[in-house]
Amino acid sequence: MLSRPNLYSLDICHNVDKTVIDMQLFGAQVTTGLLPQTLSILQTHAPTVLLTECDNDLNVPFIQEVVDTEIGHLFEHLIIDFLCQNEPETIRESRIYSGLTEWNWHIHPRGKFTITIWIGEKESKRLHAAVMYSSQIVQKILDSETLNLIPPAYTKTVGAVSV
Ligand SMILES: [Zn+2]
Repeated sequence: MLSRPNLYSLDICHNVDKTVIDMQLFGAQVTTGLLPQTLSILQTHAPTVLLTECDNDLNVPFIQEVVDTEIGHLFEHLIIDFLCQNEPETIRESRIYSGLTEWNWHIHPRGKFTITIWIGEKESKRLHAAVMYSSQIVQKILDSETLNLIPPAYTKTVGAVSV
C-alpha cells in the first residue's frame, strides 16, 4: 500500500497477466475539471501522455479529454505512457500496453477507482516504477488546487465595502 496522507492511497495487486490498482482519493477533487493547471502541468512534466490513445464516451483525443476527466483515468494513462517510454532494451518489437479504469460510487466511496493494467507480475518492478512516476505527476496536479483558490479574506473584504 502506497499513500500520500490526505491525498490518496494505492493498493496494488499483481496477477499473472494483469495488475489491479485500487486508488482512493481523499480530497474534494476527483476529476481534473476544477484543476485548470492540469494541461500545462502535463505539457511541462509528461508531454507524451497527451499523445496516448483513449477510448472515451465523447470520442475525443486524450489531450481534450484530460481537461475534464477522472483522476484515476489520468493515472492509468500516465502508467501506460511510462511503460511505453521506458521499454527495456531487450524489447524492441512494437508492444502495445493497455489499461482500463472503472468506478462506481453508488457502491464504493466517492473517489475510489479500480485501474487494471495488462502487465503481469513478472514485470512488477517496471509497473512499480510507473506507479511512482505517475504518483508524482498526479501529486503536482492535486497540489495545484491551492493555486486556484481565491483567498476567502479577499471575497469578504469586497462584500464589506458597502457596510
Ligand atoms: Zn483513456
